[in-house]
Amino acid sequence: MIVVMQKGATQEQIDHMIQRVEELGLKAHPIYGTERTVIAAIGDKRDEDRHSLESGPGVSAVVPILAPYKVASIEVKPERTVVRVGPMSVGNCHLGIIAGPCSVESEEQTLSTARAVKAAGATALRGGAFKPRTSPYSFQGLKEEGLKILAAAREETGLPVVTEVMAAADVPLVARYADVLQIGARNMQNYRLLEEAGASGTPVLLKRGPSATMDELLLAAEYILNAGNQNVMLCERGIRTFETHTRFTLPLATVPYLHERTHLPVVVDPSHGTGHTSLVPRMSAAAIAAGADGLILEVHPDPEKALSDGYQSLTFQQFEETMQLCRKVADAVGKRIEAEEETLARQPA
Ligand code: PEP
Ligand code: MN
Repeated sequence: MIVVMQKGATQEQIDHMIQRVEELGLKAHPIYGTERTVIAAIGDKRDEDRHSLESGPGVSAVVPILAPYKVASIEVKPERTVVRVGPMSVGNCHLGIIAGPCSVESEEQTLSTARAVKAAGATALRGGAFKPRTSPYSFQGLKEEGLKILAAAREETGLPVVTEVMAAADVPLVARYADVLQIGARNMQNYRLLEEAGASGTPVLLKRGPSATMDELLLAAEYILNAGNQNVMLCERGIRTFETHTRFTLPLATVPYLHERTHLPVVVDPSHGTGHTSLVPRMSAAAIAAGADGLILEVHPDPEKALSDGYQSLTFQQFEETMQLCRKVADAVGKRIEAEEETLARQPA
């Protein structure tokens, strides 16, 4: 349930109600809005608890949360969450563009890609050092050596690094190098990993499992939020259907659907969602038109020679063209592809 405080409730009243919620054996998540504060009371709810909270000082109302997910629900926090990672902002009017190779293959490949995507306007660098591959015989990633290469690319370009963590035990290592922990589609329901990523406090990009429902995605996000990490981005990356003309089927209705139900930003991955380079530019534009808060795109200096996912990777030139197209659509729907600081700097005083 949600304890909605009155406008102008004092900090003392808020603290008192947090304590009351905890005394009832519930977890208290205070959310400080610009208008008023609400306290999400999470746990097994009983009606008598609700009535006893209603009479608390500074309380306006106590209402049940109808969705199965709680902290992720828009019922608890009507204001959109903006995830800020160094110079990148994702959410509300800020569009993040995360671009880079599927896998970190070498220093030269990663650094040249980082320079190219930065020059074209990307706001973060992606690249896998730990790769979840369908076959154990495929390239598995450079692991810590790959993380070091990503850190060197960040050092040179200033782009924050988004990279996958595949196991709970690897979270401390990956979080030492990464600005955003990517939880891959195959691991969306690895609950120990979700909890560890939550506890690390590092922002998380949570990819939808190829056969996960929206409620399952939001409940997975709830694990991270409940561990105290509010910086969660959801990612639609395509689902399994009977269709074979694309690698996965990319359902863009996910974006407005999630925006109706959660305050968390929604990122779209047209690279994995289509599996074909030629389809990526238009589906990137379509994702932004659908209201996406960010894109994650695979870019490679020489896709033909890529060690993974070359068939869906953009060349530097194609990425530059995709950015030009995306900027037009972003303008039309009131989104900005730039770091928030730049946006603020341009506003008249
Ligand atoms: C990736 O981003 O390279 C990746 C493996 O994605 P997914 O988990 O969506 O398959
Ligand atoms: Mn990939």
